[in-house]
Amino acid sequence: MTYSVDESEALHNHIWSDSTSRSDYTCFGDVIAFDTTYKDNLYGRPIMPIVGVNHHHNTIVFATAIIADETSQSFEWVLHNFLEAMMNKSPISVVTDGDREMQRAIKYVIPYANHRLCSWHLSRNAQANIGDLKFTATFSKCMASWWTTEEFDIQWRSVVSEFNVEKHPWVIENGNTRHLWAQAYLTSHFFVNIRSIQMCESMNASLAIALKHKKTYLDVVRAIEDGISRMRMNELKADYLSSHTKPFQITKLVDFESHAAEIFTRESFLAFQDVLLRETLYRIEEEIQSLSDECQHYILSKYKEKNMTFEISFDYRTETLICSCKKFETVRLLCRHQLHILKYLDYTYLHGTLIQSRCTNDSKASAPSYVDLNVSPEVM
Ligand SMILES: [Zn+2]
Repeated sequence: MTYSVDESEALHNHIWSDSTSRSDYTCFGDVIAFDTTYKDNLYGRPIMPIVGVNHHHNTIVFATAIIADETSQSFEWVLHNFLEAMMNKSPISVVTDGDREMQRAIKYVIPYANHRLCSWHLSRNAQANIGDLKFTATFSKCMASWWTTEEFDIQWRSVVSEFNVEKHPWVIENGNTRHLWAQAYLTSHFFVNIRSIQMCESMNASLAIALKHKKTYLDVVRAIEDGISRMRMNELKADYLSSHTKPFQITKLVDFESHAAEIFTRESFLAFQDVLLRETLYRIEEEIQSLSDECQHYILSKYKEKNMTFEISFDYRTETLICSCKKFETVRLLCRHQLHILKYLDYTYLHGTLIQSRCTNDSKASAPSYVDLNVSPEVM
């Protein structure tokens, strides 16, 4: 635990974590999310769990802070002490609710991290500001679509004009910050599959119950620790399920499915199975042997949507497949187009370059122990 005091020696900001959370951060700390939805009952201070997702796509808590106020100074203090506790390993990406002071602190303390604004908060704000359900639905579609940036800009201009909101301050402001929320601008930046801070909800649910009936700091800390214990118990159950049971296979690509079932956690396997089912929607339009490199290039089109094409290059030396859709770089799970080419090349397994360790049953195999972290198992 680390804390700071004010001029009167009263508690100002504090943050705590334990060795399991710190060990988890070394495996899954590539993407973090945080918000300050809840305040403690006694002093009204914001409670700020810093969370991520594990190999089962379930929420895990890396640290929790209770801060004096929501100024950029307090957020900077939290992020600075958080990174110090995590052996100065910066996250690749951060997801927040869009608080300006928080944004300022992120830019200052972790300037190289990709930043995404919570899609759930943005949709809610769209409805609150524009007050048109049709606009909110269209805005949400713009936010989530895997368009190119050029396609997004065309669509955005057309939506803004269609709803006649060109001069609305909320629309102008969000148009200017589209690189923080539009999938088109965030593609190829790694966010696992986190689009919103709704993942903080499981922790916030524990806090909501605790804060209803209890008041002291100690009550808040106990509620957080209870929530973390429940999450860890769920992880153990998911570990057991993934390692000791076999999922039902549903395609004729038996070798691929068996290989994936063996290496991936159940949750990742189900996502892979969905990719397996949908790769049949694509066909190879053109095959080009590059003279300048060792790569074979393919142009794929989608069934009934011939205009939708994807370029895939396959490097025979390294068995690397790169697709123009950039889904693998964004969510770290093979895309339908890559899988279609693997099938075409008669592969029966996934090469190591196409397997992200945070999706596998072994993702925590090299996690540091208490001894590696140089701390007692009790507290940071
Ligand atoms: Zn692709």
